[in-house]
Amino acid sequence: MSRPKPNETSSGFESPRTDEPLFQPSSEVWYKDGNTILIAGDEGFRVYAGMLSEQSSVFADMLEIPLPAPQATHEGCPLVWISDSAVEMRYLLKSMLDPRYILKINQTLDLPALCSILRLSTKYNVVHIRRRAIEALQHYFPTTLSAYYNARERRRLSSGGVSTYFLLANTCREANANVLLPSILYSCSAQQLDTILDGVPDSHQGRVELSHKNKSAVIQSRHQLAHLARTGTLRWLYSGEGCSDKRCVAIRRRVGARLLEGRSIDGFVNPLSTFNDALVELIDGDCCEACQNAVERCVDNGREEVWKKVPSVFGLGSWDVLVKAYGQE
Ligand SMILES: [Zn+2]
Repeated sequence: MSRPKPNETSSGFESPRTDEPLFQPSSEVWYKDGNTILIAGDEGFRVYAGMLSEQSSVFADMLEIPLPAPQATHEGCPLVWISDSAVEMRYLLKSMLDPRYILKINQTLDLPALCSILRLSTKYNVVHIRRRAIEALQHYFPTTLSAYYNARERRRLSSGGVSTYFLLANTCREANANVLLPSILYSCSAQQLDTILDGVPDSHQGRVELSHKNKSAVIQSRHQLAHLARTGTLRWLYSGEGCSDKRCVAIRRRVGARLLEGRSIDGFVNPLSTFNDALVELIDGDCCEACQNAVERCVDNGREEVWKKVPSVFGLGSWDVLVKAYGQE
């Protein structure tokens, strides 16, 4: 007996073609007294329709529409096919039905899980879960420079790699989670150019690429970000800030030239870099203290100035507007 192929309906949800489908009861979402079985992929979730409908207008519409007879059932529960993956639906249903799991929707959940919860909570209009997912993701992709810098290690430990950044960028764009987009897109922009253009292999999805809109925004941003590096964080290279002692000028030029070596073919320079190696080289090269301080000040102030402009680089306005809009959701 082979698994029947579901038909996709115009609503995007699926219904069975034959009467007795195969599914594996979920080991995580299977309430014995549940009254409806949702089937995603090969996994069946026995749930309480009323609890889902109460939290989600989309589930309410889907589960209240009478299904055409003869209706497929299992132990008296109607079977409802949905087109999302089993993994993603498992995350959403646990979020909606298990109070212990709801408490876990914070920065301790990894990025792929939060990405799935954001995507499906938006699709099914589960407002309180969407909010929790966005708040949790803000621990990885915050709106201030110091928090973004401090979250580096958290991103590195959680991320499934660059593919997760790309998936997250696409999900946030699709889900209108705009408050997260600037810092996520910035993380995408700082990747190698061929990675941005061609995408990256992913163990679950095959290959992951940025959506057309995201790819276009990221590629266009690199020129602007390099400009911001030249006029902000690295201004000391071009403006003659620091003293005019010949030795200091020579060291500054040498360090500056090295910073610009081996750049990408599109000239990208990461303007939010702390340029620590350059500062160490200035110190090791016996650059005078006034010069070292001037460069350090320039880098610190430049990074703050650049961060303020990151949303507008991606066509998203300003941090203030994004934060205010999110607060009014
Ligand atoms: Zn000097």
